[in-house]
Amino acid sequence: MTCPDVTASEPIPDAALAEVTRLLATGDLFRYTAPENAPVALLERDFAALMGSTYALAVSSCSAALFLSLKALALPVNARVLIPAFTFAAVPSAVVHADCVPILVECGANYRLDLKDFAAKLPSAEAVIISHMRGHTSDMDAIMALCDAAGVPVIEDAAHSVGTTWNDRKIGTIGKIGCFSFQSYKMINAGEGGILVTDDADLVARAIIMSGAYEHTWMKHAVPADVMARHQNKLPLYNLRLSNLSGAIIRPQLPELDRRVRDGRRNHDHVAARLNASPNLIVPPALPAEARAPDSIQFNLVGMTDTQTRAFASACAAKGLKAQIFGQSTDNARAFWNWQFLGDAPDLPQTRAMLMRACDVRLPARLSLKDCDIIADIILTAASEATAQHAA
Ligand SMILES: *Cc1c(COP(=O)(O)O)cnc(C)c1O
Repeated sequence: MTCPDVTASEPIPDAALAEVTRLLATGDLFRYTAPENAPVALLERDFAALMGSTYALAVSSCSAALFLSLKALALPVNARVLIPAFTFAAVPSAVVHADCVPILVECGANYRLDLKDFAAKLPSAEAVIISHMRGHTSDMDAIMALCDAAGVPVIEDAAHSVGTTWNDRKIGTIGKIGCFSFQSYKMINAGEGGILVTDDADLVARAIIMSGAYEHTWMKHAVPADVMARHQNKLPLYNLRLSNLSGAIIRPQLPELDRRVRDGRRNHDHVAARLNASPNLIVPPALPAEARAPDSIQFNLVGMTDTQTRAFASACAAKGLKAQIFGQSTDNARAFWNWQFLGDAPDLPQTRAMLMRACDVRLPARLSLKDCDIIADIILTAASEATAQHAA
């Protein structure tokens, strides 16, 4: 059985082609040239409606959206921003870029924020970024209760969470601002791209200007003119805009989202049930309030030594499946000790222990259940080989 390709993307819907052809023929690639209805503006309108948010701002990446969110909050220089210690290197990078100081919070074996460490560190923080890493949702009720009581704004890094809900609320709409990614490994693929959503007119106005709406181009955004005018000429322009080509490629994928979420969940839950039958593999369950939208699966190797853990990853690779243990693959961008640009790594034993046993496998929505069974077979076989060959 050859392993299915877990990196290939779905084709972009045909509906994108006519619009891309029109854009190429006219050269109308800049979002602010057309008097109205530019593809990026239409994407913002549709995405805001999809999320039930008042405002959306499309930008060049989710990292850019996180950076602009922090800048839009007008935090003082060196403000402390809590982030989970289990996230992608771009998140602490966005904090540093915004002249703030990232404070790493412990995460548990279930990949979610450790609320005790979070509550302990919150009093020193001026903002919080909650990364729903790989779509795993931390307890948003507890987090919002703590942050609301402390008056600390919450930015949701929902880069990988489009389609996930928490108590039937859409992830990315629970905090003050939500940021999403359209990079190719996410549920909606434009190669690159990001978007932020919020209900706060002043916040989005500041983000719009800083994203590069110079002079009065902001008039092409659906934000009250008096709010926009308040911020005129007061803010730097970072020019993190999205191209019309990307807008045209993203927008026809929005109607595909429900199906992708359904298929992604089916694939994830099918593989999870099979892996959980092994004594050496545990897929942490979703929290009760959470309905996930997975395009990958994470599981912990249990009762295995470091040698066995590495033997497991090699056995998967030998069978054609890329299965990365976050903490054991070289230079992994999700292992906090590799973020050397922050200085010395803090002591976070709980997150470190999780990263040393947590395995990451892509499981795109386009795979069939037959494909998923091949992947589950490879993982299960690799786990038994690794434990048998290197008996403790
Ligand atoms: C992908 C990802 C990002 C970065 O998104 P870009 O659009 O590539 O900048 C940030 N956070 C998380 C949790 C991600 O999965």
